[in-house]
Amino acid sequence: MSSPPKIDDVRAATAVKLKGRTKLKLGELPTNGHSLFEDKKTAKASLDDDATVIDTLQDALYAEQKHALLVVLQGIDTAGKDGTLKSVFKFTSPLGVRVHPFGRPTDLELAHDYLWRAHAAMPRKGHIGVFNRSHYEDVLVVKVRKLAPPQAIEQRYEQINQFEKHLHENGTRILKLMLHVSRKEQGVRLRERLEVPQKRWKFNPSDLEDRELWDQYEAAYATMLERCSTTWAPWHIVPADSRSRRDAIAARLVRGALEDLNPQYPDPGYRPEQFEID
Ligand code: AMP
Ligand code: MG
Repeated sequence: MSSPPKIDDVRAATAVKLKGRTKLKLGELPTNGHSLFEDKKTAKASLDDDATVIDTLQDALYAEQKHALLVVLQGIDTAGKDGTLKSVFKFTSPLGVRVHPFGRPTDLELAHDYLWRAHAAMPRKGHIGVFNRSHYEDVLVVKVRKLAPPQAIEQRYEQINQFEKHLHENGTRILKLMLHVSRKEQGVRLRERLEVPQKRWKFNPSDLEDRELWDQYEAAYATMLERCSTTWAPWHIVPADSRSRRDAIAARLVRGALEDLNPQYPDPGYRPEQFEID
């Protein structure tokens, strides 16, 4: 078994890098994660270690009540958003983690601006919030399926950056993970959903329509990554064809974000010697 990559190396390998004005070519970026985790055994051991530390850090984050962490999970159907969050937070107390899925907007949500529902779902101080899909759907599915006028969508990238800056300045640390799966692996997973009875509920015929629109989604994802990777809320591209490596990489990044926050247990405001318990 090899040793796991350092958190900083995982960050550097997954951070969105924009060379000058060149376009991000998602199709050329690795989807397997082998350069970070050679073997699955190391990935699994690293995930277990990190999931344990994430629980410890979350406990202090909860006690301190100073910061919130928002983990945004984006990726096309079958990229593994549910699986990743199940693994990364498998040892974390449910007290301090809130998962929020973003589906098609309700009538009420559509009656507001598109960031309204995201803002309402933000984790409070002391909590970790996980967005399973997010406000980014408003520049992804909405763009590809032409659900809003192009000019309105064009304005959203900067609006989202400012929104996230506001959150960052008010105590929410934001980590954004784009789960990057290949078209071939998506095919395997969609077939699995049809074949395995316990997975059939996850299949939706519209997943196949979206698969037909692969190139358009890839372009929309690339634009999102190019325009919304900021110092205050960076995007990371997580290779997602191998489930164990995907989970291990995501866990390294989440642990890194929590370690940066360095949560401390608060001074209780009394000295234990003051009290005697019979
Ligand atoms: P799932 O994540 O499989 O439960 O599916 C949720 C569905 O809701 C996906 O097809 C998303 O593309 C869709 N969705 C999420 N946000 C939006 C949005 N703002 N507008 C339209 N569809 C959305
Ligand atoms: Mg789905």
